[in-house]
Amino acid sequence: MDKPNNSQEPSSVEILKENSNYLRGTIKESLSDPLTGSIRTDDQILIKFHGTYQQQDRDLDEERKRQKLEPLYSFLIRVRVPGGVTTAQQWLAMDELSDKYADKTLKLTTRQAFQFHGVLKRNLKTTIKEINQSLLDTIAACGDVNRNVMSSANPFESPVHGEVAEDAKRISAHLTPQTNAYHEIWLDGKLIEGGEKEEEPLYGKHYLPRKFKIAMAIPPRNDTDVLSNDLGFIAIVENGKLLGYNLTVGGGMAYTFGNNATYPRVADVAGYFPKEKIVEAAEAVLVFQRDHGNRSERKNARLKYTIDRVGLDFFRSELERTHGLKLEPSKAYKFVTLGDKYGWIKSEDGLWHYGVFVEGGKLVDKNGYLAKTAIREIAKIHSGTFILTGNQNVVVAQVTEQQKPVVEKILKDYKIVDGNSLSQLRQNSIACAALPLCALAFAEAERYLPSLVDRIDKILAANDLLQVPISIRMTGCPNGCGRPFLAEIAFVGRAPGRYNLYLGASFTGDRLNKLYKEMLSEDEIIAALTPILEDFAKNRTTDEHFGDFVIRKEYIKATTAGLNFHN
Ligand code: SF4
Repeated sequence: MDKPNNSQEPSSVEILKENSNYLRGTIKESLSDPLTGSIRTDDQILIKFHGTYQQQDRDLDEERKRQKLEPLYSFLIRVRVPGGVTTAQQWLAMDELSDKYADKTLKLTTRQAFQFHGVLKRNLKTTIKEINQSLLDTIAACGDVNRNVMSSANPFESPVHGEVAEDAKRISAHLTPQTNAYHEIWLDGKLIEGGEKEEEPLYGKHYLPRKFKIAMAIPPRNDTDVLSNDLGFIAIVENGKLLGYNLTVGGGMAYTFGNNATYPRVADVAGYFPKEKIVEAAEAVLVFQRDHGNRSERKNARLKYTIDRVGLDFFRSELERTHGLKLEPSKAYKFVTLGDKYGWIKSEDGLWHYGVFVEGGKLVDKNGYLAKTAIREIAKIHSGTFILTGNQNVVVAQVTEQQKPVVEKILKDYKIVDGNSLSQLRQNSIACAALPLCALAFAEAERYLPSLVDRIDKILAANDLLQVPISIRMTGCPNGCGRPFLAEIAFVGRAPGRYNLYLGASFTGDRLNKLYKEMLSEDEIIAALTPILEDFAKNRTTDEHFGDFVIRKEYIKATTAGLNFHN
């Protein structure tokens, strides 16, 4: 298993992984080089496995060039939070680190993680060390390994939600890389003599062909977008008891402009298994991808392409051969929404939970709206937990009856917007980070979507559609970090101020959208959407979703599989 499995030449990244001494490379030397704020090219790939990316502030590129300075390099750090649950102490620690070493914002990602932006190289090690001191970590938050395992937004909602969240944690722990490199480099852990003797029992020297994402979902809420993941588990619940899971395989969002061999894909529901086998099932699918994924062409290396290449029957037979896991026919389930719950809800155990809307997942004090401070003030008095949701929001969870008025007062004092008071479009919006720090971004996303939604809200208001749930997402490139291809209205950046518009995804995350128009400016976007939304207001059937309507009225053809996304 320690060899790339293709007959073709392995990609340069495969060779780099093999020669990296289990992800050590020359990261230590790169970090201690005082002459530059960047790190060596090979190490830029390896540090992803440690949960950090090198970036540069593109807003400042011109000015720095004029001053004959190198670009302003900095680092993104992604903090792994399995199932998205943190304690109040951990929240305070992350809040403080974002002020001390990052750009004073806490980015809540679409995979229930914290992200720090703008950390300078000289602070990178200290920041990662302090993250670990708060009992969170960054290992495997990025790279060709299993990423943060997502779970439904509130594990405290019912005993089943709790059980599923525990399963997410068990999977996460089981699939975490074992290399001691992380401890050596970031935590001053002892060097393993002759590090090459160290083993990665599951991954081997080459780890996986590409990133690997897992999510759990509990119907009727698909708040983790489970079918966008390489591997997903849909809880099957009967009479309030968790029986097992439907296993879903081969989801993924990214594609490359101009390369139709790449495409987003909605996962297949491969079959059902009883809950006791959850960790074994996760391992079996990871091993399948490790051994059958494409190690030559990284653009076709995700599990979604492996499944389309080898077929579901072979996939099922391999799970049985390698792990004795025989999938049964999948069980019936129904999703009704992808969205989060805002405001107060009470769980079966009598505790309260408040869902806070965080636009674009960016928690920051800005223009007099002190959202970050408000959550910090809550954390100072909160005996419960916080949950990061897959929709970039946060839930103040496990609030006691006594504490509820105190939390309410803080929310009121800081005028925190009740998500329920916003248009349903804004409530169901997601944006990736994009410019200025993401090197791959062609256009704005997080900084721009709110103002675009202001304009679309006006069309909705004029047509009495403000309270009709419609999902909208924007990313700065087609890499898919904000899962744009599962939004009913999606924008993907092509160039500064220009976007591709995609329509026709379902509201429940089981059908992709399709390209409707290319390279639109803001005015062209408004001009394109206005007549369709007017038509929708007049001619939709009862409870018909926008994504279904545009297909019925033939604005766009339905995408029935990843393979027909482009036609
Ligand atoms: Fe960057 Fe593209 Fe991901 Fe957005 S989708 S964060 S632009 S890589």
